[in-house]
Amino acid sequence: MGSIEVFAQSQYFLITLLALGILFFASMYATAGQDKLFTPLWFLFIGLVLDFGANGAAYSGATAYAGGKDIDGYVFLELLLSLSAMIFLALAAIRLMVNGILLNWIVVGLGVLGILAVSLFVYIIPDGNVVNQMRQIFPLAGFACLAAGFWSQSNREFKSGSMLSAMLSSAVVIMLVCKYCGFFTEGIANLWYGSALFYILLSLSAVMMKVDALNQRLGKSAKEIDKYNQKIEEIIRLSPFPIIISRVGDDRIILANNNAVKLFGINPREIERYRLKDFFADSDNRQLLTERLENEREVQDFEVLVKTPLSDTPFWLLASVNIIDYNYDVALYAAFQDITSRKNREALLKNQAIRDPLTALYNRRYFEDEVNKRILEAKAQGQPYTVLMLDADHFKKVNDTYGHKVGDKVLIELASTAERALRDNDIVARYGGEEFVVFLPGIHAEQGKVVADRLRESISKQVVYSDNKLPVTFSVSIGVSSSDISDNVDTLIKTADEALYKAKQNGRNRVEVFKKEDMEDFMASGQAEHKDESQNHHPVFDKENSEEISLLDGVEAGQISNEDTQIEEPSNKKESK
Ligand code: GH3
Ligand code: MG
Ligand code: MG
Repeated sequence: MGSIEVFAQSQYFLITLLALGILFFASMYATAGQDKLFTPLWFLFIGLVLDFGANGAAYSGATAYAGGKDIDGYVFLELLLSLSAMIFLALAAIRLMVNGILLNWIVVGLGVLGILAVSLFVYIIPDGNVVNQMRQIFPLAGFACLAAGFWSQSNREFKSGSMLSAMLSSAVVIMLVCKYCGFFTEGIANLWYGSALFYILLSLSAVMMKVDALNQRLGKSAKEIDKYNQKIEEIIRLSPFPIIISRVGDDRIILANNNAVKLFGINPREIERYRLKDFFADSDNRQLLTERLENEREVQDFEVLVKTPLSDTPFWLLASVNIIDYNYDVALYAAFQDITSRKNREALLKNQAIRDPLTALYNRRYFEDEVNKRILEAKAQGQPYTVLMLDADHFKKVNDTYGHKVGDKVLIELASTAERALRDNDIVARYGGEEFVVFLPGIHAEQGKVVADRLRESISKQVVYSDNKLPVTFSVSIGVSSSDISDNVDTLIKTADEALYKAKQNGRNRVEVFKKEDMEDFMASGQAEHKDESQNHHPVFDKENSEEISLLDGVEAGQISNEDTQIEEPSNKKESK
């Protein structure tokens, strides 16, 4: 395609050589790290260099001819270079189109035949016409192959660069055809800048091919990231655990799998409406998690108290939370495990340790521990408090008359009445057998007596039914002590018990208050020994109600009225010591 004019003047030659140099660097840039472009572009470059060499040989031949020298060697060299250029351009085209080994061999075979033909018509039977034909057909064939190669790529991988190259090589083909048909005058056909312009434009298209390749790689990696995210989403969706992904920036939920949707009551169509913090029932709990995440970026087995629109009561989940990159966002990945049953079991065990199994009231140990704390608090705040000691009247008779089970029923009813009648921050406990203690914070003994009377009265109105459907009523006697007497839980209980003893003596179903002036007698009498004895011998309570107590068989069932109980002999516990 080149022009021998290029070699006529040194400035044309230099400019064309420079353009070829630019193509060299462009080919280097375009093929770096690009397997698919590497061979075709370098074959193309070699083909163009050989074509350039063919023009040089033609120019030398023309100069020798003018000097009257033998030019066979020049013509042979020119045709050989031109033929080789054609072979390389064809190979480049094959690489661009199909990269078939068979085609390569065909091209090489044609090249060998070409060399034989060149040798034949230059040396053996020299024929100027055939030589002239060859001069024009070799580059024409080479560029035609190249144009086909680039057109085949122009709507595929290296789109814009291939398009430009295809147009350029087609233009060269058209130009060569015109030249072959004699449409161009010598002057135009030999324009020296044709080759330089071609090399520069080809450099540009090589760079464009590279850009296409880079864009393609970018698109591919974006696709791969998408694919990766889809895979993660799929894994998350199928997980047997509830999993939530939320954006760190605005706390919005961006992904919740089916199990999480069910567990948290999320509407899957409005997922971004929810924030992760909406599900935390306890802000301190959430704060702790946030702090740990800031420090550790990963938190395992963290217990969170969760609330959802579906459940009225908060429940416990075990969470593992990580900070991850998700869809170009910094996100929290949280996987949950429902530990409500475990928590319930724990609560149950804890309750078993502090509750009385029959009445579900607190037990004596819990009462004493808790009241100790409450007394310290009350003292610090200068608040009064009152302690009540309750004892069921003639309870033995209930057992003896109706049986142990009915006695239990009475105790249960007594406990629930006391709980209903008292405030939430009062503490009611079963102290032992048929005795109960109450701590009333914030009130003095006088008000405590009012509360005790009200309680006594509501207990006396309760009825339980025997196995024979007979109504059984019952009453309690209550002793009152308070912060005026002591700040020691043991002394408070003992003094309340002293007052209770008085209530029993004074006829039962009544309330007595331990007063400051009672203290002297109390101390002198060795601190209510009757209390300890009655406490230490609760045959039924000590056996945790597991055994039936011996009951009188065949007792006529009937109501034990308060009057009945009151006409019983007064307790002689004290006297018995
Ligand atoms: P008082 O009015 O003087 O208190 O007479 P009382 O019969 O209530 O007195 P006492 O302390 O002699 O009797 C208490 C009885 O309570 C003895 C015991 O059999 C019974 N008791 C203790 N714990 C339980 C229990 O858990 N269930 C039942 N059914 N009876 C119990
Ligand atoms: Mg008793
Ligand atoms: Mg009793």
